[in-house]
Amino acid sequence: MTVAGVAPATRQRRQIAVLPGDGIGPEIMAAACEVLSALGDFEVVEHSIGGASIDASGSALTPAVLAACRESDAVLLGAVGGPKWDSTDPDATRPEQGLLGLRKGMGLFANLRPVRPTAALLDASPLRRERIEGTDLLVVRELTGGIYFGERGRRGEVAFDTCSYSVAEIERIAQIAFRFARRLVTSVDKANVLETSRLWRETVERVAGEHPQIELEHMLVDNAAMQLIARPTRFDVILTENLFGDILSDEAAMLTGSIGMLPSASIGVGGPGLFEPVHGSAPDIVGTHRANPLAMFGSVALMLRYGLGAQALAARLESAIERALADGLRTADIGGAASTEDATKAVLASL
Ligand code: NAD
Repeated sequence: MTVAGVAPATRQRRQIAVLPGDGIGPEIMAAACEVLSALGDFEVVEHSIGGASIDASGSALTPAVLAACRESDAVLLGAVGGPKWDSTDPDATRPEQGLLGLRKGMGLFANLRPVRPTAALLDASPLRRERIEGTDLLVVRELTGGIYFGERGRRGEVAFDTCSYSVAEIERIAQIAFRFARRLVTSVDKANVLETSRLWRETVERVAGEHPQIELEHMLVDNAAMQLIARPTRFDVILTENLFGDILSDEAAMLTGSIGMLPSASIGVGGPGLFEPVHGSAPDIVGTHRANPLAMFGSVALMLRYGLGAQALAARLESAIERALADGLRTADIGGAASTEDATKAVLASL
């Protein structure tokens, strides 16, 4: 399908806004830039976000950086956050505000997280090979609504977060899920308890009517968490709201062996997309050369495919990653000893 978020081919060289962020972000981004320059002639412009931006300017995302991202052809992000900026003070500036501000400011309402365990890594997952073999699913997570963006605060000893969804927000994310589905959309909610989930269910049913060739099923989020481990191969597209999608996609990451393997794409309508690994800034391994750059490389591949319309380059990079793994590449998180630099060299060699 053609994805909203594909930038028009107006520039000679495609311009990529690169946001390394914090923790292992700069380490895996340096590796990604090496891979990118081996793939083609891209103009890479680096900007600060998250904790690095707080340190430099007091804000996790400056208006200038948001504007530069909007004007680019695609945005590539490492990760944000870390203990240095952790605080329970509700008024403190937090690195995550940079990421949430970028998603909201660029209108990126759909987060796509493909989960397809590589053949070479079927034994690296904590689950048995026969459970995960054949898994090929896509989590479609709503990204700019729900409890992450609702009113929140404290009244004396009480804290609250508000979850709200409109019909329009649910419709547009459901349309994306049906367009990507090959056979089945599993819409995940908590409709036995939450009013937002009941509206979600009604709206998704209506959208499903426009896609009669795709089957729709509803699943409660607690059951979905179980089914994802028990029978991951049954899924095709998992469609869900912001908070459930955040949790379920980390769970799904373990099917691939490590969170260091899982890429994601965030898209909206019209403007550039944002491509980033699912994992965070991994402060526990920063500076140890143990960061697995493959989720970042996978995000570069998603950027090439969905952000820049460069299908052939995306396929080339994905098969180079597969080949490097088949030839034995293993970083520490998937049971080996390869460093970030070794992994980068292995993928460059396969390219
Ligand atoms: P995390 O994903 O950073 O780390 C979880 C575990 O996975 C850690 O043990 C880490 O070492 C490991 N890990 C993660 N990525 C890896 C990689 N590429 N290679 C090898 N191992 C990897 O999650 P966390 O520890 O809960 O959060 C750390 C910080 O990251 C927090 O400040 C959090 O807010 C932030 N965070 C940011 C994002 C983002 O930028 N999109 C997402 C999640 C968490």
